[in-house]
Amino acid sequence: MKVRFAPSPTGYLHIGGARTALFNWMYAKSQKGSFVLRIEDTDLERSKKEFLDEILESIQWLGLSFDEIYKQSERFDIYRKYADQLLKEEKAYREGEAVILKMPQKEIKIYDLIRDEIVFDTAVLKDQVLMKSDGSPTYSFACVVDDALMEISHVIRGEDHISNTPKQVVIYEALGFKIPKFAHLPLIMGEDGGRLSKRTGAVAVSDYKKMGFVPEGIVNYLMLLGWSPGANQEIINLKKAVEKFSIKKINKASAVFSIEKLKWVNTQHIRQMDLEKLTDLIVPLLKEKGYLEAEFDRKKVESIVNLFKGRISILEDFVDWADFAFLKEIDVSDGDKEKFFTDDAKKRFKLLADSFEKLEVFDIKLCEESFRGLVDELKIKAADLVHPVRVALTGKTIGPGLFETMAIVGKENTIKRLRRAANL
Ligand code: GLU
Repeated sequence: MKVRFAPSPTGYLHIGGARTALFNWMYAKSQKGSFVLRIEDTDLERSKKEFLDEILESIQWLGLSFDEIYKQSERFDIYRKYADQLLKEEKAYREGEAVILKMPQKEIKIYDLIRDEIVFDTAVLKDQVLMKSDGSPTYSFACVVDDALMEISHVIRGEDHISNTPKQVVIYEALGFKIPKFAHLPLIMGEDGGRLSKRTGAVAVSDYKKMGFVPEGIVNYLMLLGWSPGANQEIINLKKAVEKFSIKKINKASAVFSIEKLKWVNTQHIRQMDLEKLTDLIVPLLKEKGYLEAEFDRKKVESIVNLFKGRISILEDFVDWADFAFLKEIDVSDGDKEKFFTDDAKKRFKLLADSFEKLEVFDIKLCEESFRGLVDELKIKAADLVHPVRVALTGKTIGPGLFETMAIVGKENTIKRLRRAANL
């Protein structure tokens, strides 16, 4: 068996296209067949190299390797040859430079693996343009010629192509080609109930990559748009999903794209990722922000990443939440200064800084001992000091454990930030 993904490089690879690519790929892998990537760039005006590059990069980033690749713009001679054949057989006629197929009057039955039998009456269809007057083939003509010559056994694509299918079946029949099996995937809707579009949020896979989603998360979420591994399982890796994949289990009903759900799935994959790999993904973002020099303490970065690992939903979260660990000076908002840096708190910051000065080793355990010692001495509640100190050290009201935070900020900066807050 052989399937194909056939994007047009007239735009970026969007979520819907990526899901189509993924389902084709999973089906190929599950059946030990091959996966063809066919670039449908017959529209020379609207096809752009920038889009093609982005599509290839996104497919690779998602991990969807292909076995063969074709570009329709390099195959115009082939389409011309088959158009000539149809002219010779008088199944098509010329109108100026264009070649047009005579539409037979008949009923066409298509067996769709997802939607079962679909019946069309071609009487409602007009004669079809195969080759345009500029010498380029129409989408349906190039698609049929290629699917036949490339020996595609299953055409798996979006439901928006159902209406093209009878027109294509007529072309297969005219050319005497074997008709492949079809599977039309349910539409993906936005949460507003309309078709997924830019209006409702990002649609390009590369946008999600930029936002700090990981390919494992995107791929896992995409496969849930119309399919499920069963037994209420939602978090699954690609290899396991391939073992369970079956076209028969794809839903007919449209799927709803939810960014919140995508984030949740992504969080689970980041949580499962090994620390080395996650750190590899985060380091470039930190460098881009100027938080890391060319030479840096990798083990330290890993320990900071580890502290946040369980709650990062997109990589950007880490950059936002852990900035205090990399910045020389942190910002505290006026509102937080007013709320947390009371006169009492400032006195306590000074006392805490004084007791930290005495520490030879500044680790989680000794920080905590010293901190609790002061709390007892002052006869206050730990919480009265924890929150203001967190704000003084990180500029944030939430974060990982305070003593872990101190150990990461380090003795020198912890003392400096406490004193600075005390003197505000
Ligand atoms: N180039 C078409 C598209 O991007 C391919 C449709 C098909 O798979 O036949 O929608």
